[in-house]
Amino acid sequence: MVNNRRLVLWDIDRTLIRSTGFDRHVYVYTITRLAGADQVRLPPGGTGRTETVIVEELLKANGVAPALLPEALKLVEQGLTGDLRKMRAMGRTMPGARAALAATAGLPHTVTTVATGNLRRVAHAKVTAFGLAEYLDLEAGGYAEDGRDKTAVVAGARERAGRRHGTTFSAANTILVGDSLSDVIGGAAGGAKVLATATGTATAAELAAAGAALVVPDLTDTSRIVDAINKLTAL
Ligand SMILES: [Mg+2]
Repeated sequence: MVNNRRLVLWDIDRTLIRSTGFDRHVYVYTITRLAGADQVRLPPGGTGRTETVIVEELLKANGVAPALLPEALKLVEQGLTGDLRKMRAMGRTMPGARAALAATAGLPHTVTTVATGNLRRVAHAKVTAFGLAEYLDLEAGGYAEDGRDKTAVVAGARERAGRRHGTTFSAANTILVGDSLSDVIGGAAGGAKVLATATGTATAAELAAAGAALVVPDLTDTSRIVDAINKLTAL
């Protein structure tokens, strides 16, 4: 079968949007609810871990029993989806992200969706809060529910998008745009080329050394992003 489509996967946090303050607020609320702690220790952010792994670390750092993970994930999900106005007020869209996303979504024969460590409902809340949902086929996306790391998330998105659109998405016609080393390493292992944007905690040199097909400083050069996606994904 000849592939006649390409799949463009977008990471969310520190690639399309930044909502660190709101995320932290919800983590503090979650630990306070579960353990009544006065001082909540927060694991470092920005490394592209899935929500499951982040919340496991959060529980461990605050001496909360690992058995409470399902309840903690439920509280995090409720917290992060419960107030989109506050999420928007405490966060922002990354520079150039809206235009770059809109331009790729407008490419012919292209399926555009997310591959994110966020829980599915949280991812939908984030892109909705920042007005980006209209550019994304969210039913085709990959989420924390797909597995513990970005490899599983990207593989999940490829399979889901393939089923939904009746085609096969392989590394020849799939590209992930993301900011973290987890995106670069997990994207490649999950069957995608990776366009890295140095807008997270990893430097451009680190992203390149990890094997990104291209590293850009940010998403502000829309035509460079679109050209790279055209070049890297054969139709
Ligand atoms: Mg990210």
